[in-house]
Amino acid sequence: IIHLSAVGKHFGNHQVLADINLRVHHSEVVCLIGPSGSGKSTLLRSMAFLEEYDEGEIHIEGRLLGWEIDDRGRRKHAGRTRLNQARRNLGIVFQQFNLWPHMTALGNVTEALVRVRGIKRNEAEKRAMEVLDKVGLAEKAKEYPARLSGGQQQRVAIARALAMEPKIILFDEPTSALDPELVGEVLAVMKQLALEGMTMVVVTHEMGFAAQVADTVVFLDQGSIVTRGTPNEVFRDTQHPRLRQFLQNYL
Ligand code: ATP
Ligand code: MG
Repeated sequence: IIHLSAVGKHFGNHQVLADINLRVHHSEVVCLIGPSGSGKSTLLRSMAFLEEYDEGEIHIEGRLLGWEIDDRGRRKHAGRTRLNQARRNLGIVFQQFNLWPHMTALGNVTEALVRVRGIKRNEAEKRAMEVLDKVGLAEKAKEYPARLSGGQQQRVAIARALAMEPKIILFDEPTSALDPELVGEVLAVMKQLALEGMTMVVVTHEMGFAAQVADTVVFLDQGSIVTRGTPNEVFRDTQHPRLRQFLQNYL
């Protein structure tokens, strides 16, 4: 469903991603792990063309993302319409929940549907209630973000992504801003989505979640994929000193 081939990205002279080759299949859960600054967020954001990767190609459902490349290999931005079409497949959940503070939980989910999808408000509200129920927040629908815990706010953000019926959800450290006791409720929702067959790419430091839920764990270091495999393979891999060193921080 997502195919990255030889993807690279520079910020000025600084190469942040190099030769990234990765396939994400339907219903697969891929966890991206790696030290701070290794390029995890940049890689994830590239998958939504929130960062303009400048080498290689990213295909989503067989369509080149973000660029048009001519026969001489020159890149030109794909039109807005084409980019938005590609993004329709994607939901994104960030570390910061980015909820609208002046709208209730229900309002936050509804507004996205009305604005982005042009769905009629009463229909949008119905769908919003369904997804809020799914993340266990039906009773909090009328609350404003300030009156919700961080875990609840993040679940609203997940509901908002889900309401758009994406084929893939990208998560960038969805639990890193949360107090430890609130992490579990968010991971539980994500685990449920995984069980239901959602395709997910998750940047995370939650090794327990990765071990339990991921089909594939990808270890990134200095902008390159050092190793990848099933959780068993990666977490027991002792061949790569960088990986060994990284994992020691979590024991
Ligand atoms: P963390 O675990 O801290 O979130 P990360 O693995 O997500 O780290 P990235 O945020 O992808 O790392 O950053 C990778 C590298 O790219 C870092 O060296 C960072 O300084 C650099 N970088 C990221 N965004 C920019 C930017 N907008 N301009 C310049 N350099 C950037
Ligand atoms: Mg990051």
